[in-house]
Amino acid sequence: MHCPNCKGRNIGKIGNQQYYCWNCFIELSLLGEVMDLHQVEPDGSLSSLNDLFTEDERKANW
Ligand SMILES: [Zn+2]
Repeated sequence: MHCPNCKGRNIGKIGNQQYYCWNCFIELSLLGEVMDLHQVEPDGSLSSLNDLFTEDERKANW
């Protein structure tokens, strides 16, 4: 799979259905076929990035 934001493949698995892009520091959670994208803020909270992408762009591309 690749990161929908940077198109990179520098993605690590951090949990069950959860991945992390080491290029742009976003968290990818797989919900079925569609990824839920979050940015990890410096204080550790998560802000959703889903609004920045179409559902098509968020589809997991294995
Ligand atoms: Zn990325």
